[in-house]
Amino acid sequence: MSTAMNIDYFVRNQTEEKLVTLADSLAERFYERAAGYDLSEETSFPFQNFKELREAGYLKLTTPRCYGGDELSLYQLVLVQERLARGDGSTALAVGWHLGLIHHYRHINVWPHPLFEQLCRDVVEQGAMINHFSSERNTGSPTRGGRPETIARRTTSGWLLSGRKTYSTLIPILDRFVVTAFVEESEQIGHFYVKKQAGIEIDPTWNTLGMRATASHDVILDNVFVPDDAYVPTSPTWSSDGNGWLLHIPACYAGIAYAARDFALKYASKYQPNSLQTTISKLPHIQQRIAQIEQDLMISRTLLYSVADRWDRDPEHRTRLQPELGLAKKVMIDHTLRIIDNAMRIVGGASLSRDLPLERWYRDARAGLHNPPMEDAVDRLLAMRALAEFERDDNE
Ligand SMILES: Cc1cc2nc3c(=O)[nH]c(=O)nc-3n(C[C@H](O)[C@H](O)[C@H](O)COP(=O)(O)OP(=O)(O)OC[C@H]3O[C@@H](n4cnc5c(N)ncnc54)[C@H](O)[C@@H]3O)c2cc1C
Repeated sequence: MSTAMNIDYFVRNQTEEKLVTLADSLAERFYERAAGYDLSEETSFPFQNFKELREAGYLKLTTPRCYGGDELSLYQLVLVQERLARGDGSTALAVGWHLGLIHHYRHINVWPHPLFEQLCRDVVEQGAMINHFSSERNTGSPTRGGRPETIARRTTSGWLLSGRKTYSTLIPILDRFVVTAFVEESEQIGHFYVKKQAGIEIDPTWNTLGMRATASHDVILDNVFVPDDAYVPTSPTWSSDGNGWLLHIPACYAGIAYAARDFALKYASKYQPNSLQTTISKLPHIQQRIAQIEQDLMISRTLLYSVADRWDRDPEHRTRLQPELGLAKKVMIDHTLRIIDNAMRIVGGASLSRDLPLERWYRDARAGLHNPPMEDAVDRLLAMRALAEFERDDNE
């Protein structure tokens, strides 16, 4: 792993320089292990990476300061996650759910105070982690509004949950997680903070093209108990921050795109076939592809960081930013796919080799299309807002 981009104009001050130095040092080590975790026959979970994240204090980066965390802004979260993903996309995406959710919970203020405080203290003192499992086989992406088939039934002191969750990223390392379930009693969708206990089983279904080391297996819940104070019904409050935390996803793919760009530049600057008097970097068609990569990376990063900065600076209007937040993700994924494609075309047939990282980045980047928000949902938000504005102006 090298750093061909010497000056990163999105690093604005000394605090952010320290943060990227921390993320870079972890990324360098993770890069060395990424192929091993990715290629193992039974996809394995990068426990060693998470041990190092914990020791480096990375897991508490978004936890509120009052509980001992670093309370990173959204912009800073994007910055560290992009750097980490340059080393290993799977590890960055997986830890991104945890960091992003703590950031989200910090801003939407829905969990009972003692529960959130205990979670934060466990993150700081024990390196605990969290993720939210909403996806199910028959509901698909939760962003489409399907009703969970996981059911919550009332008991005298709480709830019993039964069902199966798909795409449960981080599950091998979690001792707690949040699930969405249909509450029979109220016919509402609710969120339940679940502690690991008897009745929870991991079905190791995750054998995918990309993001293999996220270990996003299925989780089966069979009459799992949740106390009353660990349940929160769905309400508009859940998206009162515009879901800015989901920017951890484009941040991850920005890191992968950067890594591919870096690799292609290095390769083109060194490779000199015996049919040429120069390296391939001097050839016009190679330079044209490099220019396209630069353009794609600059446009998508600029959009990503500007939306994150606007989110940080304008707390009153975060819900209104949702179309831009979604667009930043959509553009980043499209550009990352094209950047990797161009990087592979520059390198040529060697890019297909499993001895090089490009084919892994190519596979990992595909997963971005199926992380939230989905592109059809983003398109709908953009179109609906434009039409609403137009129709309002027309009626005035
Ligand atoms: C690497 C990775 C990690 C993930 N980690 C997590 C996690 O930690 N927690 C979690 O909860 N989820 C996670 N997810 C799951 C993700 O958020 C989605 O739920 C999942 O990818 C399924 O989305 P989908 O769009 O493919 O599915 P579906 O919603 O089933 O869509 C499949 C197809 O049908 C179409 N379709 C279906 N319903 C509609 C509709 N109502 N309107 C329009 N079109 C429709 C879609 O356009 C699409 O073409 C992860 C996904 C990946 C790839």
